[in-house]
This record gives sequence, structure tokens and C-alpha cells, in this order.
Amino acid sequence: MADYDPDNIFAKILREEIPCMRVYEDDETLAFMDIMPRVDGHLLVIPKTPCRNVLDATPEQLTAVIKTVQKMARAVKSAFDADGVTIQQFNEAAGGQEVFHLHFHVLPRHEGVSMRPPG
Ligand code: C5P
Repeated sequence: MADYDPDNIFAKILREEIPCMRVYEDDETLAFMDIMPRVDGHLLVIPKTPCRNVLDATPEQLTAVIKTVQKMARAVKSAFDADGVTIQQFNEAAGGQEVFHLHFHVLPRHEGVSMRPPG
């Protein structure tokens, strides 16, 4: 597995070198709206410390991130009056990962409504 790249786009978001629409943060995690939402309310949760993906994460990072994922899943389900919530997470290019800083997608879902295609 490659090393963590400190110039990946989410590291730049954390350093506030590029903007994002922040929806929640605490000492260990940040949640912000996905720039290319697959459904309305699609957001991402990341740890504030360097971490490439789940394969690279410490138990502490995973604990902090999944707690925020649960908070955000409950929040978007309520805010978007959703029927359910999809949580997605990709590891390495072969696993579908494009940005190499650990992140979880949180997507509010409605019965009969498909996700928009990526891009
Ligand atoms: O496949 P992976 O989960 O790595 O995709 C990265 C995600 O990060 C995409 O959903 C993309 O829309 C999102 N992104 C973002 N803000 C950026 C760059 C990428 O929300 N500045």
C-alpha cells in the first residue's frame, strides 16, 4: 500500500486550503457535503488525522469516524425525511477509492429513488 499523501484533496480541505461545505466537526472528525452528490444530502465523514483508508486506520481513528458516521446518518435521515441511509467506503484504487484520505459516504435514500451516476 502506498504512503499517505499529505497533499491529497481532503488534507487540503482540513488545512482550509480549499473550501468545503462543512456540516459537522469535533476534535477528531469532519463532515462535509460531497461536491458531486449522488443523492441530495450526500456527505462525507473524515478523520482529522492522516489516514489513507480503512486498511491503514488505527482503532481510535475508526472509532471516532464511525461515531460521526452514525450521527450524520441519523441527521440526514431526519433532515431529508429519508426511508433509509446508504453508507459507502472504498479502499485503494482497485476498491474504488479516488481520494486517498479515509472517508465514509453517507447518503440518505428514498424508496424507489436511484443514486445518480458518479461524476
Ligand atoms: O471514490 P471515492 O470515495 O474516493 O471518491 C471521492 C469522493 O470525494 C467523490 O464522491 C467526490 O465527489 C468527493 N469529493 C468532494 N470534494 C472534493 C473532491 C472530491 O466531495 N473537493
